[in-house]
Amino acid sequence: MNLLALRKLRYGLYVVSSRRRDRFNGLIANGVSQVSAVPANFVVSINKENLTHEFIKASKVLSFSVLSKNTPLSFIGRFGFNSGREINKFKGVSYKIGKTGAPIVLDNTLAYVEANVINEADLGTHTIFIAQMVDSDIIREGEPMTYDYYAEVKRGPTSKKASLYIEQIAVTKAQKYQCRRCFYIYDPEFGDPDGNVSPGTSFELLPDDWKCPICGASKNYFDKLEGTE
Ligand code: FE
Repeated sequence: MNLLALRKLRYGLYVVSSRRRDRFNGLIANGVSQVSAVPANFVVSINKENLTHEFIKASKVLSFSVLSKNTPLSFIGRFGFNSGREINKFKGVSYKIGKTGAPIVLDNTLAYVEANVINEADLGTHTIFIAQMVDSDIIREGEPMTYDYYAEVKRGPTSKKASLYIEQIAVTKAQKYQCRRCFYIYDPEFGDPDGNVSPGTSFELLPDDWKCPICGASKNYFDKLEGTE
């Protein structure tokens, strides 16, 4: 068995949302896929530990929003590295209520689908919800975020993308630091565009109140990444 084979699979990145009575919640998921056309059915795989899982189980409705490639890390962090048990993820986020009653996140969204759950399969750690489309629309034009792009470029730059920047800015030392909570890598070559930190800023020079752009952890959650100097 070669697990590297799995890295050849390609996924999108979505906010999957649902409700329970008058409460809304959503999370970041990549296990969303269309599996039939007429009627349009989708599989949506959700970890059982997530609050959104409880909500989908209870209401049997869900929506998913296709995220734009330009989605800031802070937005992904809000839905992906926080729990709806602790914060109201929808506070300050633009959304609407769909025909099914499911909330639909509109910020950073290119398009959405809302659906009724018609079946499910228990995978142990996850439930696969099979959901039939009720409505869909395009919110704005743009390129969709892929899981790959998020993991390699947004969360932690690859050497390939870094080389493009090196041509523009002279950086002699680029000690990277990694967040223990969400594994985001701070790379001085890139800075933190979402937090207005310009490329070339070393980790030490980040302001004391700087926060991890993904999960919001403070600087002392960061460790030096070995072998990157
Ligand atoms: Fe973090």
